[in-house]
Amino acid sequence: MVEKRNCSFCGHAIEPGTGKIYVRKDGSVFNFCSNKCQKNNIGLGRVSRRTKWTVRYGELKASALNREKEGQDEAPAEKEAPKKAAPKKPVKKAPAKTEAPAKPKKAAPKKEAKTE
Ligand SMILES: [Zn+2]
Repeated sequence: MVEKRNCSFCGHAIEPGTGKIYVRKDGSVFNFCSNKCQKNNIGLGRVSRRTKWTVRYGELKASALNREKEGQDEAPAEKEAPKKAAPKKPVKKAPAKTEAPAKPKKAAPKKEAKTE
């Protein structure tokens, strides 16, 4: 059975009998599926995790999106709700609940104290 290998740069499976094995002087071995991948990695010095058409880039982007979604579900929702609610409620409550002439005078000093 022929060993199946993945491209060292793009990450796609290399069909047996095709591709190229590149060995550096230091002994590190790279398997390239195409000349495109070899040129991008060796010739142009590109990094697979920053090159958009590689599998590695897609994986990192997907994991980053998952982290953002998880983070938005938990942390930002909790943080944003109190912030938005806090400034709106005092303004709305002061004129609505309290009497018209007395409350605007009291509300103004409270706002100044909070901001300071
Ligand atoms: Zn490749």
